[in-house]
Amino acid sequence: MINNLCENDMKFFRSTKIVATIGTATNDYENIKSLIKTGVNVFRLNFSHGNHGDHLKRITYIRGAEKELNANVAILADLQGPKFRIGKVKEDIKIIKGNNYIFDKDPKIGDYNRVYLGHEEIFESLSIGSKILMDDGKLQFEVKTISKDKIQTEVLVGGIIKSNKGINLPDVVLNTNPLTSKDLDDLKFILNQEVDWIALSFVQKLSDIQEVKKYIKNKAGIIAKIEKPSALKELPKIIKACDGIMVARGDLGVELPPEEVPGIQKGIILQCRQAGKPVIVATQMLESMIDSPSPTRAEASDVATAVFDGADAVMLSAETAVGSFPLETVAIMDRIICSAENHIKSYPGDGPQSLSTENFVYNAVSRSAVSLAESVNASAVVAFTASGNTAYRMARERPNLLLVVMTPEISVKRKLSLLWGAYPFLSKVQGYEAAIQEAKEIISEESLAKQGDSIVVVAGMPFGVSGSTNSIRVVEL
Ligand code: PEP
Repeated sequence: MINNLCENDMKFFRSTKIVATIGTATNDYENIKSLIKTGVNVFRLNFSHGNHGDHLKRITYIRGAEKELNANVAILADLQGPKFRIGKVKEDIKIIKGNNYIFDKDPKIGDYNRVYLGHEEIFESLSIGSKILMDDGKLQFEVKTISKDKIQTEVLVGGIIKSNKGINLPDVVLNTNPLTSKDLDDLKFILNQEVDWIALSFVQKLSDIQEVKKYIKNKAGIIAKIEKPSALKELPKIIKACDGIMVARGDLGVELPPEEVPGIQKGIILQCRQAGKPVIVATQMLESMIDSPSPTRAEASDVATAVFDGADAVMLSAETAVGSFPLETVAIMDRIICSAENHIKSYPGDGPQSLSTENFVYNAVSRSAVSLAESVNASAVVAFTASGNTAYRMARERPNLLLVVMTPEISVKRKLSLLWGAYPFLSKVQGYEAAIQEAKEIISEESLAKQGDSIVVVAGMPFGVSGSTNSIRVVEL
């Protein structure tokens, strides 16, 4: 089953993918099946919530529904990462701008003067003048003095302090392991499941990715969530080291002024395309639909902007995890994407910009295949790829074409669900001619093109050898 057909009056295939977070609103088999039918390409499991039993049930349902619907979906496990929290406080503690406030290591309940902060690495890394943000930046503090077990601050923005609220420290690089003991425990579970992508929260620097790679090896693709200003300083290196990026606008918009996020989003998407790495735009895309059956106009515009920028995927968080209208939200997201992609067909200048060229053979072959397919008005480009790399290189060009990807690897096929424009199928035959025949049959069976249409085939010779992409052929159906 292909769930990316833009219905309405458009009748073309949607290229930008939808990631939906599963939660208590969508936990059961029937809901997961309906979400796939409505257009979800990737399910996100948020390890900040739920236990391994909950996630195991979700994975079983997703894989069951994928099989029943003969669909192709990826699973993305999102690790909590080093998220810092204060301790408990008495109710209704209002603190006032200009007053002093203390963070300390005393676990007793907090009050108007102080609260528990049990993270040693914060005491080690902060300096005088550093900012402490609390509760998604609603409250703000400036560090005045630091001792071994007490941080004295001035309240810059006051408000009500609530128990266990999160802390953000935008202007320090913390000397902390990128994987907490909870993350390591979650990873042990995740790596025994059929999970395709693992997202790493609060990446600060390149070495965080290198450290995590030691655990994940090649068992899943690593997505670096960009939500810290320090990660932006090393962005090119982080993009190179990981397999994909998430523009995690929730925390990014807390750690940086929110007005800077749209420009940063554009820059990250372009750099990811240039590197041939998939990029997800996440958080608050259709936030009002948590409680409402229709989005605001600004939200519709936000989803369309991510499409115009050239994101591979757009993500739903609370909207599908705990919202009252999860199916409606996916349906409207699908329609907004289709409409934006339809607009780009008429006004290409409003869509993703062209990339600068590179001279490596494998890049040039992929780019030339796309350009040839557009020139001969082909219905699709077909990439034969064991690793998926040819598909990543073709997708980054954002062509106005169907990208059919044939791979012998089920894990590659599922992972490619995240990739812009990719329609992955499992290839079961060996040899170039047999593989072309198989692709032609699949394209006809799935009605991806008509008899007599041209398709452009990209492969490596010798056939089946990874990294040898060097040939292009035009084939008639
Ligand atoms: C975000 O901060 O935007 C994000 C996706 O991360 P989380 O939902 O885990 O806070």
